[in-house]
Amino acid sequence: MKLFFLLLICLVLGGGSFAQQKQVCFTFDDLPVVGYGVDQSTQNQIFTKLVSQLTTLQIPAIGFVNESKLFRSDRLIPEQAALLNQWINCGLELGNHTFSHPDFNKVTLDVFARDVIKGERKSKEWLRSQGKNLTYFRHPFLHCGNSKLKADSLERFLTGRGYQVAPVTIDNEDYLFALAYQRAHRSRDTTLANQIGNDFISYMGEKLSYYERQSSRLFGRDIRHILLLHANRLNADYVDELADLFRKNNYRFVSLSETLKDLVYQTPITVFGNWGISWIDRWALSMGKKGDFFKGEPETPEYIKKLAE
Ligand SMILES: [Zn+2]
Repeated sequence: MKLFFLLLICLVLGGGSFAQQKQVCFTFDDLPVVGYGVDQSTQNQIFTKLVSQLTTLQIPAIGFVNESKLFRSDRLIPEQAALLNQWINCGLELGNHTFSHPDFNKVTLDVFARDVIKGERKSKEWLRSQGKNLTYFRHPFLHCGNSKLKADSLERFLTGRGYQVAPVTIDNEDYLFALAYQRAHRSRDTTLANQIGNDFISYMGEKLSYYERQSSRLFGRDIRHILLLHANRLNADYVDELADLFRKNNYRFVSLSETLKDLVYQTPITVFGNWGISWIDRWALSMGKKGDFFKGEPETPEYIKKLAE
């Protein structure tokens, strides 16, 4: 009997702590690799390391592809194709990030829509061969339309084509850190590379606290977060420390479909601009928040910005 009660207490406590766990989805843009000019074999190394880390850490990540990177003069590059198939074979998800990464603030809906369609060819084919669908779309630069008319027309097009938009709540400048890191790597400056990596993790910790605070100020609770990252050397080398950071903050890793079940993603967006900002900021602006509400967002260190110039 005593044992039974002990077991019951364990279950209640265990279940309780599980229920309190926060949830995050890791998303990677610009697949296969943002290599900053490195050769194919280095791209393979970076990509393979990222995939193996995600698999080991059991992170059900999604990667958003620019299929223009798969072709050279209209010919499919077999190594690039192999990388994306490696991603799919490891059970990771793929989404469309357009063919050539156009800026929706600078092109018409017609031009943009054609790039979306051109960008789904191979991913769709490879996913189908595994019995999966290409469901998610991520806007390049997070530019979703700088007017209601433009945003609505794109949304209609995407929905009509069977896509669901992948928002971002934890926005950040990982790409600046990544370029700085790649340059330190190229000049074989290990000390600098390590410093950039460590500062990146501290910066991401500050970003996480900032967006947690903002979302609880807006919604009074912890929301399921979507973290934006890019497929580069920095993230391949540091995704384990990033995962650690989230675990220490009581997060578990969930898929995009699981994340989007949070009703927060039904919050209407009624304000539009040229911005490529977090959905939390879009919701806040739509709810009439101004000035002071947005204060305290962590800044990328000056030396990173200089190195990434
Ligand atoms: Zn992108």
